[in-house]
Amino acid sequence: MRIGILGQGLAGTALAWHAHWAGYEVHLFDRGQQDGASWVAAGLVNPIVLKRKRLVHEAHHHVIAMDAFYARVANELSTSLFFPGPVHELLPDTASVRAWEDLGLEASFAPFIGPLYDLPHPALQGQALGEVLQSRRLRVPHYLTASRDFFAVQHHVHGGAVDTLTVANGQICIQGQLVDACVLAEGYPGTWTETFFGPLPFAPTRGEGLRISWVGDALHQAIHKNMFLLPDGDNHYQAGSTYAWDHITSGPTQAAREEILVKLQGWFSQDVRVVDHWVGIRPTMQDRQPRWGWHPDYPQLGFLNGLGSRGALTSPLLSQRLWASLVAAAGS
Ligand SMILES: Cc1cc2nc3c(=O)[nH]c(=O)nc-3n(C[C@H](O)[C@H](O)[C@H](O)COP(=O)(O)OP(=O)(O)OC[C@H]3O[C@@H](n4cnc5c(N)ncnc54)[C@H](O)[C@@H]3O)c2cc1C
Repeated sequence: MRIGILGQGLAGTALAWHAHWAGYEVHLFDRGQQDGASWVAAGLVNPIVLKRKRLVHEAHHHVIAMDAFYARVANELSTSLFFPGPVHELLPDTASVRAWEDLGLEASFAPFIGPLYDLPHPALQGQALGEVLQSRRLRVPHYLTASRDFFAVQHHVHGGAVDTLTVANGQICIQGQLVDACVLAEGYPGTWTETFFGPLPFAPTRGEGLRISWVGDALHQAIHKNMFLLPDGDNHYQAGSTYAWDHITSGPTQAAREEILVKLQGWFSQDVRVVDHWVGIRPTMQDRQPRWGWHPDYPQLGFLNGLGSRGALTSPLLSQRLWASLVAAAGS
């Protein structure tokens, strides 16, 4: 079976791997401009929404599927896809340490609330670090690039923007290529998805982040307080990112840069140098739930979108479910 996948962000890449493992012939279409949300994603795979201390919907299922998925991809590519070490929450005082321990006593949180550690860097201000079990950080650009190279050799990768997509007599034609089934994994704004499936309830979220460096002791842990501070190696770090629902398509802003630096100074008293400043748009839905499925009239046309700020965690399971539902429909 020939499968078309429009978009090679986190969604399209996970879809492509599952299609490959199912034995399909994969045609991957992506502009190749590295302009999607996935290219600026910090890559955190984190079952807890740390800001609100709540679990991601179906956290356990996602973690199990994600573990198996990335291990299999890493094996296929003979590479390592993750930065070393888990994510840590910076606990500022004894009350927050107690709250962390109490959270670990709740049955649903227990698998994710890890041990406490002393602060590992002289510039960190607070009481302790709490380890988030089952969390990690995907090397997203490496994963996307290595996957694209794999599909270019083993399957078919088509560059350039997709500007023709037709469905007629049970056949899908995407950019002149006939396929038996096609999934739209466009992220925001989802132009082709909305053309065929109607308007999606997007509430796109702008995120800005800084790449920083400093002179002094290196920090080796990925740390969250009211934002993330993430070691990238080479004594460079990512700090961010912000959340904004306005000025969706504009470039990096001075206000976001200041917001990040002020927040950081609240718990990391180190002079930092800003090396880079980036911006991206999270494909978030109003209810924060992803959307996926097959078209009621064209059952071989599907889509996966709305991964919001959790694409690294949720794309493996959701893409697996999407293919499984196609197979189930074909068998019924
Ligand atoms: C600042 C920021 C930080 C983030 N941090 C994290 C994080 O730490 N962990 C996490 O899990 N998630 C994070 N996210 C969210 C994550 O980026 C998204 O969940 C994920 O990238 C969505 O993937 P996607 O494949 O649906 O969309 P995209 O990444 O947008 O991919 C869509 C792809 O489709 C292509 N495309 C679209 N239309 C066409 C067309 N007509 N022709 C050809 N190609 C087309 C685009 O070029 C793009 O490559 C972050 C997002 C932002 C903005």
